[in-house]
Parts: sequence; structure tokens; C-alpha cells
Amino acid sequence: MAQPQTPLISSVPPSRTERRAAFVTAALLLVVFLSVLPFANVRLERLDVFLPIVATILFLTDLISATFLYAHFAILRTWPLRLLAGGYLFCALIIIPYALTFPGAFAPNGLFNAGLQTSPWLFTVWHMALPTTIIVYAIAWHFTPQRVVRGSVATAITADVCIVAAAVCVITWFLTAHENVVPRLIVTETDPAVFVTFVSAFMMMVAIAALLFIWFSQRSVLDLSLLIVALAWLFSSILVNLVDTRFDVAWYSNRVFAVVSDSLVLLVLLAESTMLYAGLALSALARQSERDSRLISMNVVSAAMAHEIRQPLTAIASNAGAGLNWINKVPPDLGRARRAYERIISDIDRVNEVIQSIRDIFSGSERPKTPINTNQIIRETVALTREETESRKIAIELDLNETIPTVLGHQGQLRQVLLNLVGNAIEAMRHTNGRSRLLRIKSEPDERGGIAVFVEDNGTGIAPENTERIFDVFFTTRSDGMGVGLAVCRSIVEAHGGTLSVARTGNEGSVFRITLPQSQHLETEASPTRVRTQDVR
Ligand code: ADP
Repeated sequence: MAQPQTPLISSVPPSRTERRAAFVTAALLLVVFLSVLPFANVRLERLDVFLPIVATILFLTDLISATFLYAHFAILRTWPLRLLAGGYLFCALIIIPYALTFPGAFAPNGLFNAGLQTSPWLFTVWHMALPTTIIVYAIAWHFTPQRVVRGSVATAITADVCIVAAAVCVITWFLTAHENVVPRLIVTETDPAVFVTFVSAFMMMVAIAALLFIWFSQRSVLDLSLLIVALAWLFSSILVNLVDTRFDVAWYSNRVFAVVSDSLVLLVLLAESTMLYAGLALSALARQSERDSRLISMNVVSAAMAHEIRQPLTAIASNAGAGLNWINKVPPDLGRARRAYERIISDIDRVNEVIQSIRDIFSGSERPKTPINTNQIIRETVALTREETESRKIAIELDLNETIPTVLGHQGQLRQVLLNLVGNAIEAMRHTNGRSRLLRIKSEPDERGGIAVFVEDNGTGIAPENTERIFDVFFTTRSDGMGVGLAVCRSIVEAHGGTLSVARTGNEGSVFRITLPQSQHLETEASPTRVRTQDVR
């Protein structure tokens, strides 16, 4: 079965930085080891509290490493990971009887009726366990790299815990109950026996073997950290060899090297899981904001639709009612009814145009642009809003420059922009009292050869701090507003290569300015028209 591709340190090859970090760690370990060597046999004070502290640290680091490794095993389900995790678990558990049986640590002669040889032999078992685990792990990678453990992961881990705990119990029982049958590693409470030389030499060989095995089978970040562990373990084994008597520098440093070596894999695993967590949190955030922005886009589209078609739909409804009235009249006034229905048809066309233009804006699709006479659109807009401006007693002043060039664009979209600006102006003048309400629309050529259109009112004006915010989607100061009109207008104008901004604002109204560029290829065609218009004037 193919192995799942996961970004776990047990499957990802080391990067250059990680290799460099491993090299620096190895160099540091070597420096510390070499600096300890000259003082190896210096006797230090007996510190009974040292061993329980070191044993607790080792127990916890090995146990947490085993937990992490089993978590990796639960994902990848490979045999090498299971064996490595089991090995770390064994190391964690065997430290308990070692510390408990060590004379002076928890009881003067050690617990469990331990003999003199119990704790040195438990130490030997523990010291052999980790390099042996590394060797087994490397061999398992060689022979069963793709073999996946079948069945339930929970059952496999429970079985491992039981087997490892049973092995530790049996070894502890044997080394306490039959302490007298094992070769002597120690003669007094502090002095080692000669046999220790052989045992420690064997430990060194196992550590060297572990180093070589993992060196030749390096494939992941985990393997790289195990390489450093094996190196630290080798230094630690050499120090065992150098121990002259318990509590000398070699004895203390051996335990310190063990702590460093055991912590290495844990540190790498912790760093990795923190990075994975950060990565997950970031991608969850990214997904969330993607969802949010999709939601906002959908809201904007639906709000824009509702905003833009509300006006023509209202007109359709009132024209339909009027048409019916003219027909129901006795005698029916068919001429007026026909005109009402013609207005309905043209409003329906406008609704279609609005829907099409909103689709164009949000889908990014490009319909071909056509030459547009902006003054004509302004006049159409005024005609379409005449009913409202008249009912609200708004005077309209048009100042249209007939020399402005033709622009390329979408007639319906640009009309929509003007309808929005005029609609906003009408709204802004709702509370203008004590002076006549005036809507002024002006067109002129702009300084860059394009056109500028100004829509001016003498309504409420815009607070200075809002002059840019009013173009944000959903920004509104009106209780019945949707806050999409200006955002849509700006998108349309910018899609035409132009700009939409507030040109001036004050207590007595505001002015919006639209600029649109003149199309290059139209310039030559548009020029004669412009000249002719000027001539006429
Ligand atoms: P809406 O009209 O639904 O609020 P718009 O995007 O069209 O949405 O306008 C956003 C805001 O800009 C309005 O709520 C209003 O505060 C302000 N605004 C727009 N046009 C004018 C204007 N001519 N005079 C004063 N304020 C305006």
C-alpha cells in the first residue's frame, strides 16, 4: 500500500537548514564531551537528589517522545515507527525501577529489596535499549519501509504498552530476585567491578552500530535527529567506560548526556508539532477568510442586484397600475394605456441591462464596448428621474459641453452610474429646507483628453471623515440604505478606465466627479464630430 504523503518529520526529508542545525548540535556535543574528558575521574560530592531528578526528566522526556511517536504511528501506521515508539516507551519505563533501586535515591539500599547489582544492571539494560531501538528501527526501515500495520491502531498501541510494561516488570523482577546470579558490575556501593569494562565496551559498540545504521539509512528529519541521539549516546557510553567510581565527573556527565540525548528527539517532535499547529491554524484562517470573502461577494452581488433593480421595478409596478386604470376607464383611454405599457417594456429592458451589467462586473466577463455620447446618457438619466425630481421640487441645471469626446463603454452601466449619483443627490436633498433644491450636472473635457462629469447637489453634504468610506461596500448613513450603490459605481467607472471621487463637499451639498478616458482609436473619428459641434455653436 502506498504511504500517505504527510508533512510529518518521520516522512519529510531534512532541509539544508535542518542538516546545518544537526551538524552544529553534533559539533557542540563533541566540544562538551572533549572538555569533560580531562576531568573524567575527578571525584565530586555525592548528591543523592541528583539521580531522582535526572530519572524523572528522563522518564518524562522518553514517555512524551513515545507518545508523539505513537501519534505519528497512528497516522502512518508503519512498523519502523511502531518499533521506535515502543523502544522509547521501554526506556521511559525501565528508568523507574533503575531509579527506585538505586542506593540512596529513594531508600538507603534501594527499594524492592534490591541487591547491589540490581541498579547497575538495570542501567545497562536501559543504556542498551535506546541504541538497540535505533538499530531495529533502521533495519525495519530497510526491510519493511512500506509495510503498514493492519487493524486497529488503539489495539496495537495497547498491546505494545502491555508487552513493554510486562518486559520491564520481568527484567526488574529477575534483577532483584536473582541479583546473585548475574555477573558483578560493582564491588562496593561506589566502586565498579572489572566486568564493567566489558559491558561498557559492548555498550559503546552497540552505540557505534546505531550511529552507523542510522547514518546509512537517513531519509527523514526524524532519522537526522536519531543520528544526533546515537552520537550523544556514544559519548555517554564512552563516559560509562571512564567511570572510575560512582559520583565522579564521568558518572555525572554520563547522565547529563543521557538527558541531552533523550531531549533531542522530543525537542524536534515538539518543534514540528508546533509548526504543524501553526500551519493548520493559518490554513484554517485562510479558509475562513476565503469563505468570508466569498460570502461578502455573494452579499455584494445580491445587494447590488436589489439596489439597482429596485427603482425600475417600482416604475414597472406604478406603470402597470396606471395602464390598468386607463383600460378600465369608460371609455378606455387606449392611447395612454399603450404609453404606460411602452414604459413598462423599456423599464424591463433596463432591468435586464442592470442584471447583465452586474453579472459582467462580478464575473469579470467583457462585453464589447461601444462608442458612447455621455451627454446623451445624462439627458436620459434626467428624463428617467424627472418624476421624482419634480415631486420633490428639485430644480435641474444641465451644463453640458457638446465638445466632449466620445468614450468607449457600456451604455447601460454608465447610465446606471449616473442614475445612482442622481438618486443619492435626490436623497441628500430630502431635508434641504429654506433654500431651493438644486441638482446640477455638468460635463466638460478633462485635462487628459477624456471627459469629466460633475453631479452636484445642495443637500446634506458628506462628513470629511467619510469622503473615502462612502465608496466601501455596505457603508451607509441612511436607515434604509444598502451601501452598495457607490461601490458598484466606482467598479463600473474603474472598469472603463476612469475614476469616481468626491470633488467637493460642504454644509451645502457635495459634488461627485466622474472621469472617463477617451479611447485612443476613437480619437480620430471623434474629432470631426467635435469640430462640427463647435462650428454649430
Ligand atoms: P446607500 O445610498 O444605499 O447608502 P451608497 O453607496 O449609494 O449607498 O452611498 C453610501 C453613502 O454615501 C450614503 O449612505 C451617504 O451617506 C453617502 N452619500 C452618497 N451620495 C451622497 C450625496 N450626494 N450627499 C451626501 N451623502 C451622500
